[in-house]
Amino acid sequence: MTEKPILVGDFNLREIEELKVLARRRKALVLAHYYCPPAVQEVANFVGDSLGLSQTAAASPVEVIIFAGVHFMAETASILCPEKKVVLVNPEAGCPMADMITYKGLAARKMELPGAAVLTYVNSPAAVKTLSDMCCTSANVVPVLKSIPAKTVLMTPDQNLAAFAQKLVPEKKIISWDGFCPTHHRLSQRILNGLKVKYPEALVAAHPECRPEVLATADFIGSTSAIIKYTKGETTREFIILTEQGIGHCLRLDRPDAVFHFPEGMICPNMKKNTLADLRRALETLSPEVRVSAEIRRAALAPIEKMLRIT
Ligand code: SF4
Repeated sequence: MTEKPILVGDFNLREIEELKVLARRRKALVLAHYYCPPAVQEVANFVGDSLGLSQTAAASPVEVIIFAGVHFMAETASILCPEKKVVLVNPEAGCPMADMITYKGLAARKMELPGAAVLTYVNSPAAVKTLSDMCCTSANVVPVLKSIPAKTVLMTPDQNLAAFAQKLVPEKKIISWDGFCPTHHRLSQRILNGLKVKYPEALVAAHPECRPEVLATADFIGSTSAIIKYTKGETTREFIILTEQGIGHCLRLDRPDAVFHFPEGMICPNMKKNTLADLRRALETLSPEVRVSAEIRRAALAPIEKMLRIT
């Protein structure tokens, strides 16, 4: 007779416990981004944003990192800790925004902008980072930008993060790349207005990857970690959250008394490729490993380390 799985909400608790045991047996640290499916977040030792995950990977004494996220995140972890084995849970999980910029494209643009510094969002390929003066995340973009001596800064690849930063750091002249995150960029002011009419009491928290016209009417703008902190610190019990729906898992754990509304379709299909089955396979086989060549690693590490010093 097959035992029935214990299901709580969408979770199969037995499977989650099994995977936790497997991770311990493999002496692996499981990291998951806030946008991953909730069940995968439940298995993880640490759930965070791209910066927090890489820093955790680097600080941990564990030799094997199992990364539930997208390719550039595992790549960044491997750059920061080359002595560790970094395994990406699903090798098909890429980032369309990161794919909107290439080494060749950036090299050509730099030729047209002599004197401009290049500030690259971590959501980018390692090769692109090698051409950048500094990297940033949505959590630290303002202090990082302010620390750059050049007045003119080419910000890549996210045009919306660049527009957000320009508002907060007007003393810089920002030239932006024309990339965007399809999940956040699809959100229009019309959709947000509809939600505001439906939930008039709710506070609006938005990620800076959203379009400027969407950010213009938000009550709070910040990275995923900042949004979590914001909702924890507010007494309001109703929020409209303008970022990927996976964050809802952490938000609800932290504020079980509150209601979180998300616009329809705020889902990153790549983050959702990190399934429990993939996680099990990654833990069993400790593959596929993500590794960056020594040459690219050396050059990409410098702008990442500069950012970490500022942060
Ligand atoms: S949410 Fe957007 S930026 Fe993040 S991984 Fe998905 S496509 Fe890339």
